[in-house]
Order: sequence, then C-alpha cells, then structure tokens
Amino acid sequence: MQRRNFLKGSAALLSALPINAALAAEPTTRLANSASTNTAQMLDGAKQLAPIIATPDRIIEMNVCTRPFRAQGPRIESERIGRKSVVHNYGHGGSGWSLSWGSGQIAVEMARATGHKEIAVIGCGAIGLTTALVAQQAGLRVTIYAKERPPYVRSHRATGAWTPDSRICSAQFAPNFAKQWETMARYSFRRYQSLLGVAGNPIEWRDMYSLSDIPFGRPQPSAESGEPAYPHFEAELIRDITPQAVPISSHPFPVSHVQRRSTMLFNIAEYTRLLMADFLANGGVMETFSMQDKSDFSAIDERTIINCTGYGARALLADDSIIPVRGQTAKLMPQPEVDYGFYFNSRHVSVYPRRDGMLVQAQAEGDFNNDAENLDPNESITAVRRLGEIVEQMQAKDESKLQGGV
Ligand SMILES: Cc1cc2nc3c(=O)[nH]c(=O)nc-3n(C[C@H](O)[C@H](O)[C@H](O)COP(=O)(O)OP(=O)(O)OC[C@H]3O[C@@H](n4cnc5c(N)ncnc54)[C@H](O)[C@@H]3O)c2cc1C
Repeated sequence: MQRRNFLKGSAALLSALPINAALAAEPTTRLANSASTNTAQMLDGAKQLAPIIATPDRIIEMNVCTRPFRAQGPRIESERIGRKSVVHNYGHGGSGWSLSWGSGQIAVEMARATGHKEIAVIGCGAIGLTTALVAQQAGLRVTIYAKERPPYVRSHRATGAWTPDSRICSAQFAPNFAKQWETMARYSFRRYQSLLGVAGNPIEWRDMYSLSDIPFGRPQPSAESGEPAYPHFEAELIRDITPQAVPISSHPFPVSHVQRRSTMLFNIAEYTRLLMADFLANGGVMETFSMQDKSDFSAIDERTIINCTGYGARALLADDSIIPVRGQTAKLMPQPEVDYGFYFNSRHVSVYPRRDGMLVQAQAEGDFNNDAENLDPNESITAVRRLGEIVEQMQAKDESKLQGGV
C-alpha cells in the first residue's frame, strides 16, 4: 500500500494530528505529576487500586460519535417495502452494545415468520453483527450488506460498558416499552455471561466507583440536564440479575460519598473480532453496499431483510424520530495493572479500564440533538486534565494517610 493512501485511510479513525496540534497550542502540555506511577498503591478496604496515569501526552486516540436516540425506544418492527419484507432493528441510543443480543433475538423471530431461509442483514455494527449471529444460530443463511465494517462503524467508538438503559427511550414512553426492554436486557445479559473467560477477554467484569460530593439518593448533577427525563429500567426491572452498588467508607477518592459497583465491560476491539470471526466461521458472507434511499432495498437478492443501520437509518429512511446525541471519548495508553474505573458526574468525567486503553469520557452539556461528528480535541484534553487532578488528589490523600494524617 502507498504510504499516502495508508495515511488517508487511517485519518478517519486516529486523530493524531488534531491532538498534537491542540497540545502544541497549550502553554503546558503535562501535568506536574506525570511520574505518578511512583505513588504507593491506594486502598479501598482490602483492595489495592493502582494509580491511573492521566496526562494529555498519554492520549493515543480520540473519537466522536452520535448515539441513535429515539424517544419511543428502538424501532423493531416489520414493514413491506416493495417486494421485500424488511424488519427494522435500529435506534438503540446509548445502549446498543448492551441490548444487542436481545434486540437481535426479537428481530430474528420477526424475520423467521416470513419462512425464508436466506436473509440479508444491513449493517455491520453492534446490532447488525449480533443480529446476524442470532439468525445463523436459528438455522438461517445470512449475508451482511454494509457501507462500513469495523473498525469504521460508529459502534466502534462507544465507551463499551453494560449500560442497558442509557438514553434508550424517554420516560414518557417508558410504560409502552418496558416489557420489551426487559426481555432484551435479560436475554443480552445471559449471552454476555457465556462470553466470560474467552481468550482475549472480549467481555469482563470490572469495579466502577461513583464519586459524589452530595449523598446518593439526592438529585445528582448531570450533563444530561436539558435532555428528556429517562427511565431507570435497570434498577426497576432487572435488579435480580445485576450487581448492586455498595457504599464504601474507606477509599482514596477526594470526595465524601463513594459507591462501588461491578460493571460489565466490552473490550470492543477484541469483541468485534470475535463476532466477525464467528459470523464468517458459520458460513456468513459480507458485501460492501451503500444504500442511498428506500428504493435500494429492491437491489438486495434476499427477500427478507433486517435493517440494522443505526444512526444511518435517519438519512436512509428520512426518519426524523432518530435524534443524534453526541459523545466524545479519548483513549489513554493502556494500563493493564488498573482494574477499576470511576464516574465523577459533577466534574463531568468518567474513566473505564479497557484492555485497549484507559477510556476517558468527557460529558458535555449540549450533546443532545447535536449531530456534529467533528472532534473537539480540547474537550478531551480538558477531561484528561480533570481526571489528572482527581488522581493527584487521590495520591495526596493516600500520602497523608501513610504519614498518619487524616
Ligand atoms: C460516545 C458513545 C458511547 C457509547 N457507549 C455505549 C456503552 O458503553 N454501552 C452501550 O451499550 N452503548 C453505548 N453507546 C451506544 C452504541 O454505540 C450504539 O447504540 C450502537 O453503536 C448502535 O449500533 P448500530 O449497529 O445500530 O449502529 P452502527 O454502529 O452505526 O452501525 C450501522 C451499520 O449500518 C451501516 N449503514 C448505515 N447506513 C447505511 C446505508 N445507507 N447503506 C448501507 N449501510 C449502512 C453502517 O455502515 C454500519 O455498518 C455509545 C454511543 C456513543 C456515541
């Protein structure tokens, strides 16, 4: 491959130039404590927490992406388009990875009702890949048609955590959607447990800490103000299967209120490779195909089609019920020794210990109904700086404890 072509191809995914440009423009590019690894390990009860190294010079990638939010919840229904039976399966907001298996299960049942043994799946993101695998397991032959494949799909830019009720519908529509959500969440959760312990750790459980300046139970500050109210399905409907938060009194965090909760993480790079390898091993076929509008469904050979085009469905079907919710993340150099992450809502930052890097999410107001998919490097650099400040405070607290202070 020509070097120039390689650079062109990789520019969409990696944003080294904007990061460097933004760092060069900063008067100071490093936090004072970039040698923070020297600090003693910090204790949460009996558990040792390795320090996170959070300085902007450790950023290896930044990404921005839009969540396909629908107030009614995802669109999972069949429609006749010309001579094709089209089952829609799109609009999963901030929960697409989490709910993918259960959503695919419902869509595949609808597709099977046509009686056709060969089906098409449009889309190769979280929803398309899992739907295709569920269809294969149901004995169907599947061809995936997609404009982009991983790692160039939006799903690849997600945080990668079990967040099954994140911007999945608005509270107004929750009563109509609750039962279907529960079915999807329970099915998906079970599927994910079957992927634990697989080589490469595509799925794993990690401890996440919630940090708060005010007691939990009171309204918490959130970057979601200005967005619709969302339901709390996970707490209300599947409490019996997911780990619950426990208050932690002895901890290194610079706040009064801390809860720990185990969370499932999706190591997206490894997990996507596994899904694609399984699909191909089961005899699946992938075709590159970019659809311009509804009339292009007629160009597909198969008569039953499952439409998993995510945010792309907004343009494809002129479906304005899909509202973009922007999200930006930065990946810091991997730290295999760090096995925990945390959310600090009032400081608008969260960090997740993924295998391919420490993923830092900048929470910003104004993300709702924002389709800007251009990177704002300063947004992520600021988030990493905020994270670095928290780590410094943790270390200061830890050192004063070691010296016998409070
Ligand atoms: C910042 C951020 C963080 C997130 N974090 C999480 C999280 O932690 N956990 C979680 O569960 N979810 C999370 N999400 C949500 C999740 O990423 C989405 O719900 C999910 O990616 C949707 O997957 P999808 O397969 O429907 O769409 P996509 O990944 O967008 O895939 C769509 C597919 O359809 C194809 N396509 C689209 N249009 C056309 C067309 N016209 N012709 C042909 N092909 C087409 C595309 O090429 C692609 O292959 C996050 C989202 C964001 C933005």
